[in-house]
Amino acid sequence: MSAKPGIMCACGRRIESREVLQHGYFMTHWRPVWVFVKYRCSRCRMLGEQLVEYAQWDDSVLDADAPGAAFEAPPVLVAPGEIDDEEVRQFAEKLGTLRASDLDNLARSLP
Ligand SMILES: [Zn+2]
Repeated sequence: MSAKPGIMCACGRRIESREVLQHGYFMTHWRPVWVFVKYRCSRCRMLGEQLVEYAQWDDSVLDADAPGAAFEAPPVLVAPGEIDDEEVRQFAEKLGTLRASDLDNLARSLP
């Protein structure tokens, strides 16, 4: 069993890789800092997004019951140029002040 928390929908369902629509990284100085996951819950059909600290990230959090199964969607890197350095810096600053409970609240507040 993994000790990773996984990604939880607002309805309480644990999101699995087949429910993930988009998966990418937020980069700072060419290193991934946050992992972005957009998903549609198969139980409540709600779209959701969640950020996970890269250091806490493990693709296995999305595994349903097949440990080690390959992640289906290739990771999408956020292309440099779409987000400029200043935006990244401000974003990273804000993220630096977040706690896990803030991310939970954020996930719940998403439509
Ligand atoms: Zn749900």
